[in-house]
Amino acid sequence: MRIDLHAHSTRSDGTEAPAVVLAQAAAAGLDVIALTDHDTTDGWAEAADAVEATGVALVRGIEISCSHRGISIHLLGYLTDPANAALTAELEHARASRATRMERMVAAMAADGIPVTMDDVRAQLDTADTTIGRPHLADALVARGLAPDRDAAFADLLHNRSRYYVSHYAPDPVTAVRLVRAAGGVPVMAHPFAGKRGRTVDDAVIESMARAGLFGLEADHRDHDEEQRQHARALAADLGIEVTGSSDYHGTGKLNRLGERTTSPDVLALIEEQASSGIRVLRP
Ligand code: AMP
Ligand code: FE
Ligand code: FE
Ligand code: ZN
Repeated sequence: MRIDLHAHSTRSDGTEAPAVVLAQAAAAGLDVIALTDHDTTDGWAEAADAVEATGVALVRGIEISCSHRGISIHLLGYLTDPANAALTAELEHARASRATRMERMVAAMAADGIPVTMDDVRAQLDTADTTIGRPHLADALVARGLAPDRDAAFADLLHNRSRYYVSHYAPDPVTAVRLVRAAGGVPVMAHPFAGKRGRTVDDAVIESMARAGLFGLEADHRDHDEEQRQHARALAADLGIEVTGSSDYHGTGKLNRLGERTTSPDVLALIEEQASSGIRVLRP
């Protein structure tokens, strides 16, 4: 069984539609894929419709942007109830703040003579509900010929320490862990030690997340080196929580390839066991 528990579609910053992600998962020889778009469950229905045709089982998930004292943390939530009022309200708040934040980033760039507009950014969105983020601004810069690709746009203008960087509303990770559990879902901290994206949190923060109900740590991820993977395993063992592995696929938006890291069937079985939302892993 090959299981990849972290992938994005065009409903956030992936470049492929949800059904295409499932077809590509089949082609990559995966048995199970989790669709985990940033701050939205909007791609679930299309992905679910592709389960039969592709033969790939689907874990419906989200990746919640969180913030702890200005440090960005991503929390994966699996099999949450998509109708849960508290979680839905939090995600809507975050998406609304992302839109305002994008306007501020674009205005700051325009003020410096970088000719990019909100219309350029919106032209990069797949649907009106797509979670808007810096990758779409990167794509807009590429479309204008102002950057060769997403990576270069991030390295040059969009990284966390850039003068154009603006933060957006994001819940505290302990709050987010509780929200996912209250929505019947299973929370896993994504790439906990991926330092090249920006600052990462101390183990004490992860310990407080574990006390709030964190299920596991995504130890196997391409943004971790061997030492960081080992540390994630050791910390998970200390805290009595699980480890996962995944690709964090973004289509052509990143080098990450589907199935490049995987999660054990035992851990997936525990995730299913702990989910109390009534949302099941959809099998062909
Ligand atoms: P945002 O959530 O809008 O602040 O944007 C963060 C997202 O940008 C992350 O989810 C990543 O998928 C993406 N990202 C971060 N760094 C890079 C990079 N160097 N190249 C492409 N995408 C990136
Ligand atoms: Fe992303
Ligand atoms: Fe992430
Ligand atoms: Zn991700």
